Amino acid sequence: MKQLDGKKINDIPGKRLLKGDSFAFRCYPEISCFNRCCRNLNLFLYPYDVIRLRRNLEINSDEFLDQYVDIVLRPHSHFPDVLLRMADNKEKTCPFLSTSGCSVYLDRPDTCRTFPVEQGLLYDATTNTSEPVHFLRPPDFCQGQHESQQWTIDEWCQDQQAIRYNQMTVRWAEVKRLFENNPWGAEGPYGARGKMAFMACYNIDRFRSFVFDSSFKKRYKIKPAIRKKLRIDDDQLLQFGFEWVKFFLWGITPRYFKPK
Ligand code: SF4
Ligand code: SF4
Repeated sequence: MKQLDGKKINDIPGKRLLKGDSFAFRCYPEISCFNRCCRNLNLFLYPYDVIRLRRNLEINSDEFLDQYVDIVLRPHSHFPDVLLRMADNKEKTCPFLSTSGCSVYLDRPDTCRTFPVEQGLLYDATTNTSEPVHFLRPPDFCQGQHESQQWTIDEWCQDQQAIRYNQMTVRWAEVKRLFENNPWGAEGPYGARGKMAFMACYNIDRFRSFVFDSSFKKRYKIKPAIRKKLRIDDDQLLQFGFEWVKFFLWGITPRYFKPK
């Protein structure tokens, strides 16, 4: 998800979709370009994507990160990005692409769901608020854009069951924006604090152990109703993790817990 400010928004390629704007699109197995978009991608995975994919694959988050991603630190970035590793074949296909299509379709990443629309987050520094923005950006080879079926962005997100994904991605983007300023000092993003922050955001199974099996409970008071949910509810735990990162790196007051 791109972080945008008012100045950058006009530089984004593609057509900005405002609420109520419609666009033409339809994708179906018989279309001539079927699955062409699932190869040779720079597909960034967001924390909620990882939760859903590892659940779909019935493996834990350690195994998922080991087997399926590359972790990269982009220039001028202070937090690593997680890229889905393409298969080692000539076409560099997505590891989840099968002859009949996407093998993780029900849990496919946010970017795949919203495609051919891209979601960004427009930040207003004067009010310290953000709002999602959408751009239609089908690649030239995508024949779906020449179909007659029309969608508004709301209809499209509903149809693709992307609403929860979009919400979680926006929450993540709000955390990621804080990393525009370097919180690490000399230890860098791969120091002890960096590893803890990465775990809270991308390794939900380890983070659950950290919350329940370490001294965390002695150091922080978690609201009882929330604590119960954290044991079983990955979505809630991820949001808790975002709050914890914001608190321990930037001192932002959390809602779900407080230091003892
Ligand atoms: S390129 Fe476009 S129309 Fe073709 S399969 Fe991908 S999303 Fe569908
Ligand atoms: S996750 Fe599924 S939809 Fe996304 S690129 Fe891979 S095969 Fe295509």
